[in-house]
Amino acid sequence: MTYLDKAPYGSGNTPRDEEETVRHTPAMESALLAFMSVQEGPVGARAATRHLRECGFDLSESTVSRLLNDLDERALTQSLGRKGRILTEEGSRVAANQQLDSRRASSFAEALALRDVHDLIDHLVGRRGIEREAARAAALRARPEELTRLRAMVETTGEARWRERLAFHKLVGQASHNKQIQAISTTLFDERLDMLERLLIMIGIKQDALLRWDQEHRDIVASISDRDADGAERLMVVHLDGMIRETEHFANSGNAHVIHTLLAENDLA
Ligand SMILES: [Zn+2]
Repeated sequence: MTYLDKAPYGSGNTPRDEEETVRHTPAMESALLAFMSVQEGPVGARAATRHLRECGFDLSESTVSRLLNDLDERALTQSLGRKGRILTEEGSRVAANQQLDSRRASSFAEALALRDVHDLIDHLVGRRGIEREAARAAALRARPEELTRLRAMVETTGEARWRERLAFHKLVGQASHNKQIQAISTTLFDERLDMLERLLIMIGIKQDALLRWDQEHRDIVASISDRDADGAERLMVVHLDGMIRETEHFANSGNAHVIHTLLAENDLA
C-alpha cells in the first residue's frame, strides 16, 4: 500500500492538497542520497521507490519523481535521461556529510542513554574532563556580560536556585568560547538531560552536599571573574570529584535502585 492509497482523498481535495499531503521529508531525501551514493550506475525512479519502501517509507513513485526533480534543481543529482540519475559531486559530498552526521548523532544518543549507576558515574567522569577545560577557558575568554550573568546566577536564592543549578554548567561551557568545548557541552547539557541534573540535585540533598556544591559554584565564578585559569580548573575538578563521590556513596548505601528507577522512568535508558 502506498501513501497515496492511504491518504484521505475526498472529492473536495484540490491538486494543491495532494501536493501538501505527499510532500517528501528530509529523512526520505537522506535515505535516497545514501542509496544513490552506493550505486554503481544511474538510479531510476522505480528502483529508488522500491528502496525507499524497503526502508519503511510509505510513498508513491510520483512522490519520488518529485523528490528527484527537486534534487536536480538543487544540483545534487543529474538526469541521464531514461537511464535514471546519478549524484553530482555536490550530491556525493552532501550524502557523505549526512552519513557522518547521522553516525555522530547515534553515537551521542547511545552515550547519553544512561542505564545504571556506572553509566552515571562515567558521564560525570567525562564531564570532569571537559568541564575542567571549560572553566579554564572561561577564565581566559568569558565576556564581561557572561561574567555578570554568572555572578548573578550564583547569588540567586529561593526557587530560582533550582534554575541556576541547572544552567550553571551550561553557561560555563558556552563562556569557554572554544568551539570544540562548546559543541561537546551543548550535547552533554542537552535539555533531555535536565532530568539528570535534577537526579544529581536529589543526590546532593540526600547526601547533605547541596550547600557545599552551591558554594563551589560561587568559588568557581570568583576564579573565572579574577581571570584565574588554574584556580577555575582546579575548583571545577574538586566540584565534579565531589559529585562523583556523593553519587557513589548514595548508590552504595542501598540506593542504586532509586537511581535505576529514575533513569528508566525518565526515558534516559
Ligand atoms: Zn554544579
